[in-house]
This record gives sequence, structure tokens and C-alpha cells, in this order.
Amino acid sequence: MPLEKPQWKELFEEVVTGGLCTGCAACIISCPHDVLDYNTAQGAYKPFHLPVDGGPEDCTHGIKGCTMCTRACPRFRNWETEIDEKRFGRERTDDEIYGQAFTVVLARATDPELAAGGQDGGFVSALLAFALENDHIDAALVSGLEGDGSTWRPAPTVVRNRAEVLATAGSRYTYSANTLAYPAAIEGGAERIALVGMGCMASAPGAMQARKAGKVARRLSLTIGLLCSKTFDDAIFEELFEAKYGITRAEIVKMNIKGVFQLWLTDDRYVEVPLKECHAWTREGCTACPDFAAEHADISTGGIGTFSDWTLTIVRTEQGRELLEAMEAAGAVETRPGDDDPAAIALLRRLAGVSRKRWPATAVEAPRRLPA
Ligand SMILES: Cc1cc2nc3c(=O)[nH]c(=O)nc-3n(C[C@H](O)[C@H](O)[C@H](O)COP(=O)(O)OP(=O)(O)OC[C@H]3O[C@@H](n4cnc5c(N)ncnc54)[C@H](O)[C@@H]3O)c2cc1C
Ligand code: SF4
Ligand code: SF4
Repeated sequence: MPLEKPQWKELFEEVVTGGLCTGCAACIISCPHDVLDYNTAQGAYKPFHLPVDGGPEDCTHGIKGCTMCTRACPRFRNWETEIDEKRFGRERTDDEIYGQAFTVVLARATDPELAAGGQDGGFVSALLAFALENDHIDAALVSGLEGDGSTWRPAPTVVRNRAEVLATAGSRYTYSANTLAYPAAIEGGAERIALVGMGCMASAPGAMQARKAGKVARRLSLTIGLLCSKTFDDAIFEELFEAKYGITRAEIVKMNIKGVFQLWLTDDRYVEVPLKECHAWTREGCTACPDFAAEHADISTGGIGTFSDWTLTIVRTEQGRELLEAMEAAGAVETRPGDDDPAAIALLRRLAGVSRKRWPATAVEAPRRLPA
């Protein structure tokens, strides 16, 4: 039997039109022939094949043996088990519902600017600044905002220093495929690149490493995950916030989700929008996503729990553990045990289980498995 070489044709059928695609863009940045692009029109957030070299549903490079897009895709076939085995040396047990981890701590930046500019404890920003300043990485792929930020439209962005990290701190709840900033990082000469992203993106480096997807796999050398239940379509600004609450994009200063959609506005105003009103704007790519806890990152971070100015921090790999220890030793971050907030750990387990139930029964079984 000839060796199977799955390529864009299979990716298109099984993932992109098969309801599993998250829009993480890993396939696009891995394509060595530059025949894939990204469609953000009307909330699509999906890759497409340019109308050359095989057209939308097939790829002439794939027919000749190129498999790079399926190697990069963190939703293709047996992705979860393959990445677990590569990253952690073994398959997860069913009880490891939020993925494999050494420890969970609460962490926050000691630098007051980073602590204030960050979404929760500013831990992610402190980590990026520390890693850039101490020669762990050359650049990081994060989410900035278009223009002066008043549209709240995320823009995948490369950061290379503390000021750029600070300028891109905080959370946006619409989708930012930070992977798409990879070519700009390479153009700038970066070889060791951190990727910040929700679970869908945070599994991409592991998929690439497990399936040997070339230089991209080597260069994405650190992965910082963001806990995530869903992202919203950009239309939520006009169709809900403006239509029902009279809030324009430019009036929003900060947003967060803590049981409700919290909006801080200019002139010290504050509005809470019930999450049930927001669900209709859930981005399609999130509806089958089983990964709340960014289970393949080196370190995953979230804001759930009692303490709003600490980042819930899940340390997963040896690399992540060494980095956190180095930050603590340098005084860049302070930590306390995750057990200080048992309700946060319980919620982490619960939300991880809720997401795993979304993975379709028609796809491979592993990402649906739950504790007995
Ligand atoms: C879409 C989304 C959904 C989330 N959902 C949850 C949740 O349900 N429960 C929970 O506990 N935590 C959630 N988080 C994580 C939380 O909001 C914080 O990002 C996390 O706690 C880290 O806080 P921090 O202060 O350390 O981060 P910061 O120091 O503020 O750094 C945040 C980093 O995230 C990047 N970023 C911001 N917005 C986006 C985006 N839309 N896409 C990709 N990267 C982005 C920034 O560029 C920055 O590098 C979510 C985050 C996002 C972006
Ligand atoms: S999940 Fe990501 S890598 Fe897979 S097809 Fe969609 S955009 Fe490409
Ligand atoms: S729920 Fe979050 S992690 Fe999952 S696809 Fe949507 S944005 Fe990505």
C-alpha cells in the first residue's frame, strides 16, 4: 500500500469544512509554497487555498508530496495524543482534565506598570519582558490592536522589548491569530520565538514539533497559553454593545469576562453585559473546541478565581518551570500556591470538562474523554 501523505485536500475536507477548524493559521505560516491565505471576512477566520496550484480544494504541491499544512494543524486527526506524547512523553490520563502539569500557582508581575497594564496579574507580560531581556527569546507573537486601538480590532503583532510588550498587554475577546505575525518576526531576524495564544494556537507548536514541520517547529520555542471558552465575532460591538447598550467601540477602555462581560468605559463608566446575551456572537471556530486550558503550552494562564489581580498559572513543561523559577529568583514575579484559591482550581476542572464535551463524536475520541 502506498504511504499516505495527507495534504491540503485532506485538511480542507476533514478540518476546514469538517467543522474542526479553529482558524489558528498554523497551516498558513507553515506552507512552504505560500499558497494558503486567511479569510477574516464576515467572521470566517478560516484558511483558504489561493486560486492557483490546485484551487480551493486541492493542491498540486500536495499531490507531489508536500504535507506541511497537515503536519502543522493542531486539529488534524489524532492531534491531542500526538502532541501530548511529544510534549510530555506520554498520553494524558483521563483525570488530567486540564492537561498535564507540574503545578498550578497564582502569579503576578512585580513591576507596577506591567501589573497594571496586564489583564489579570500581568504575569504574561512580565514573562515576555523577562524572556526578551534575559536572552531566552528574540521575539514574541502577541495581539496588538489596529491603529490607535479605538476600533478594538486585534492585530497579530511581533514584540521585541518591554515597551512593546506593555503596549500589547490586556485581553481582547475577538479572535487574533497571533501566529500570522510569524513572517514579520522572521524578517526581523528572530530565531527563538514565543507564541502567546489561546488553546487553539498553543497546540500549534506542539503539532509542528510532533510531526516535524521544519523550521517553524524549531523556531516556535516557547508557548504561553491563555485559558479560553470562546471568542466572539467582531460584529458583537455594533450588533449588541452599540445596538442595545449604546456603547461605541471608541468608548471602551478595558474589557474582561468574569461571569459577565465587563466593559470599562471613558468617564469612569462601567457596564456589565450578561454572557447569555453574548452567546449568539460566538465565533464559529470555537463551537467544537475541546481545549479550555491551553493544554499544550509551556505555561497556561487565566483569570478565573477569587483574586482578580493574580494570574492563575499552570506550569506544564520543564522549560516553563525553569523560566518561572528564574523569574522568581530575579524578583520579576511573585507567586503563591494555587491551593490558596481552591474555587479557582475547581472551576478550572469544570470549565475544562465543559469544553471537552464540545469535541464532535464523529472525530477521533481522545479530546472528548473525561474522568470516569
Ligand atoms: C479570547 C480570550 C479568552 C479568554 N478566556 C478566559 C477564560 O474564559 N477564563 C480565564 O480564566 N482566562 C481567560 N483568558 C485569559 C485572560 O484574559 C488573561 O489573558 C490571562 O489571565 C493572562 O493574564 P495576564 O494579566 O497575565 O496577561 P497580560 O499580561 O495582559 O498578557 C496578555 C497577553 O495576551 C495577548 N492577547 C490579548 N488578547 C488576545 C487575543 N484576543 N488573542 C490572542 N492573544 C491575545 C496579549 O497580546 C498579551 O500578550 C482569555 C483570554 C483571551 C485573549
Ligand atoms: S485548525 Fe488551524 S492549522 Fe488546522 S486547518 Fe484550521 S487554521 Fe489551519
Ligand atoms: S474556544 Fe478559545 S481556544 Fe478554543 S478555538 Fe475558540 S478561541 Fe481558540
